Amino acid sequence: MSSIKENLKQILETIPNHVTLVAVSKTKPVSDLLEAYHAGQRVFGENKIQEMTQKWEELPKDISWHMIGHVQTNKVKYMAPYVDTIHAVDSLKLLKEINKQAIKNDRTINCLLQIKIAEEESKFGLSDTDAIALLNAEDIKPLSNVKIIGLMGMATFTDNQEQIKKEFKHIQSLFEKLQPDHPQLTSLSIGMSGDYQLAIDCGSTMVRIGSSIFGARNYSH
Ligand SMILES: *Cc1c(COP(=O)(O)O)cnc(C)c1O
Repeated sequence: MSSIKENLKQILETIPNHVTLVAVSKTKPVSDLLEAYHAGQRVFGENKIQEMTQKWEELPKDISWHMIGHVQTNKVKYMAPYVDTIHAVDSLKLLKEINKQAIKNDRTINCLLQIKIAEEESKFGLSDTDAIALLNAEDIKPLSNVKIIGLMGMATFTDNQEQIKKEFKHIQSLFEKLQPDHPQLTSLSIGMSGDYQLAIDCGSTMVRIGSSIFGARNYSH
């Protein structure tokens, strides 16, 4: 079995410098995160607030924490003191709450708008039209302590590379269409263990990789 350190090294060798590696450590013990930390990794992604907060408390404070899962408005306050980037923002209501909690903590929180690109019905996210409307809404102008830095997408859970490519191309073209009017959009968060090379070919600047670094997740216990 290869080590976390070796996995990280291998992945970093295959991604360009301008692409941020978010090490997705959900369900993994603090000891695994520390191993990655000691290998130089500083950006970690979690999808449950309680778990992320517990790890934040235990681990070195120079880690950049990314919330990659769906966020309920009433949970924002728990991560506002420390979270760096929230990937799955999909409403004005959520943005307002993030701003409110960021102000309370005298911080700015980076946000990515989640775009619905998968065909599956269950996935969260905004349609292209709703994302454009949100970015242009007067209501977001007063939100002083959130910074919308880009878009995030999750492709359909499938082995069909053509399908995934089509979905990545969709978000890439939306991203490129929005950039001239919204120069603050610099990040495109697409790509996971199985499809990050494809995502990088489609313009990804942030890959969220879990199992290829830490091994398969076990949800059975
Ligand atoms: C779990 C998760 C990942 C990482 O998935 P892997 O296939 O293990 O790399 C990426 N993004 C999100 C939103 C996730 O929930």
